Amino acid sequence: MRSRKKAGSDPRIPVLAGMIILLVLAAGTAGILIHRSNERRAEETAAEAEKETEPEEEPEQEAGAETKTEERQAKIVADTLPNETKAPAEVPESTVGTVPEEESTLAEESTAAEQTVVASELIPFTEELRFAEYSKIHTDPAVLYRVSGPGARGLTVCVNAGHGTRGGASVKTQCHPDGTPKVTGGSTAAGALTATAVSGGMTFRDGTPEPVVTLQEALILRDILIGRGYNVLMIRETDDVQLDNIARTVLANSYADCHIALHWDSSESDKGAFFMSVPDNGGYKNMDPVKDTWEISELLGESLIEGLRNRGVKIWSDGSLDMDLTQTSYSSVASVDIELGDRVSPHTPEQLGLLAEGLADGVDLFFSRAGNRQETGQ
Ligand SMILES: [Zn+2]
Repeated sequence: MRSRKKAGSDPRIPVLAGMIILLVLAAGTAGILIHRSNERRAEETAAEAEKETEPEEEPEQEAGAETKTEERQAKIVADTLPNETKAPAEVPESTVGTVPEEESTLAEESTAAEQTVVASELIPFTEELRFAEYSKIHTDPAVLYRVSGPGARGLTVCVNAGHGTRGGASVKTQCHPDGTPKVTGGSTAAGALTATAVSGGMTFRDGTPEPVVTLQEALILRDILIGRGYNVLMIRETDDVQLDNIARTVLANSYADCHIALHWDSSESDKGAFFMSVPDNGGYKNMDPVKDTWEISELLGESLIEGLRNRGVKIWSDGSLDMDLTQTSYSSVASVDIELGDRVSPHTPEQLGLLAEGLADGVDLFFSRAGNRQETGQ
């Protein structure tokens, strides 16, 4: 059964598919950036099943896998296109990837100083990063999108599309950096010293693999967050990235202010969204680096759930489940695994857009609350 919770007057997903990012700047200057990137690596992924959410390929992109890395590295500064005032949702889908001609006349009205620019760069995993020695799979880079200009917030969100590491299920990594055993059961039993480096994920009852949906969600969330002025560290933008859960966490620790891993649960009751909270276990909460991050991670998880709930997303129980995860155990920044539904939950483009808006709202809440905590010394 696919019980849809549909908001009465569903807001249109404000960010259209793909690498086009429209940033509505302050009224008056009303600058808008359209970021078009040719760094797309994911077109061969199963995201094609949901064309509306799939970032489209830049028309002028050159073929040739062997040149991709150089192109991506050279493509530091993204194309920027000038002001417009139309809401993104009003741009016809057929114009995705192009600038509607009637709007391009605004080009000359903006100056470079008013424009918000999105640049991207590859972020390799390197051995000197903290906890790097515990990772077993780390040959691929992540991608960091940096927003600069008037819309920039100077904060970086790591968006981690859960699963999607070929071969990761047959590799084991240490559960905790200090070698202590896992304190809760889950996909790995309590007491275990090692866990699967990256599991394959579940399969939705309609046959869709979880990693396909987490990637679709991640790409939508990426664009919304960039549209709100956040830098985004993307762990995965294709169906396979050779980064295990520890490597993903190491990169988030080093390059982001918070880390959000996107998942769907393996239950079959459409029970709603929840996040994996830090187990209420004294030893675990005193373990390095959890002792320094568990409170801020809880704040992140609670903020994400609140953002989702405010958008009308179904929430399971109180919105959290205690779980000792590898991700949490190695995180030195606020870090959450969030389960956005389960095997029978809808994963239509509309639902994924709604979830992404809720998550982005949660990110806004999190940073405002985290900032308040710092100011008040809490
Ligand atoms: Zn998962």
